[in-house]
Amino acid sequence: MSRLLVVEDDETIGTALESSLRLQGYEVSWERTGRGALRRAVGGFDFVLLDLGLPDLDGIEVCRRLRAAMPSAVLVILTARSEEMDVIVGLEAGADDYLTKPVRLRELLARVGAHLRRGPATAANRPAITVGPLRVDLARRRVSLGGEEIFLRAKEFDLLARLAEEPGIAVSRDTLMAEVWDARWYGSTKTLDVHIAALRRKLSSPAEECPAPRISTLRGHGYRLEHPQD
Ligand code: CA
Repeated sequence: MSRLLVVEDDETIGTALESSLRLQGYEVSWERTGRGALRRAVGGFDFVLLDLGLPDLDGIEVCRRLRAAMPSAVLVILTARSEEMDVIVGLEAGADDYLTKPVRLRELLARVGAHLRRGPATAANRPAITVGPLRVDLARRRVSLGGEEIFLRAKEFDLLARLAEEPGIAVSRDTLMAEVWDARWYGSTKTLDVHIAALRRKLSSPAEECPAPRISTLRGHGYRLEHPQD
């Protein structure tokens, strides 16, 4: 059974989230403060739903600390529709995804289900992919560039692995959102752009003799991982 942590100070929203997630068969813990959430962060949760507007601590800081404490948990932030910067800062602080308030329960349940179905164990027998000096080890979920390991977050890894499957081939935004995040994607795809930006930063190689594969943006379409010699 998957274990979920809900961090939400609003009683009405928290009650609705807790009861609808329980009805789906998840084991749910509900914390109303950032401090409470951080105390629970050792508890081996599979999934965290984190409201960014908390009464005691800055939600972004809570996000960063939860990510550090639980590297393998799926972390989804909840934010008010108007707070676009929160979304980007939250994704950069370690969130895998976001939902905007007011939360539509059907969307939430679809998203939680999609995240939890995607176990990291599915690629155990697949060989590593290499693109020039880049090596993506699907079984171990490790990435190296010119022999140096690069540390990626879960969704960054999935995204790079998908692009590296077809180097030199354009992959559409819809395909990436569907395969890396959720086939039933409703909202904006800002999540994708933030993860691409993070990957570009991590793939930028300082060594001239080891040019890294680049990720090209194809306006209005998607992204493409380029062979370094192209
Ligand atoms: Ca709140």
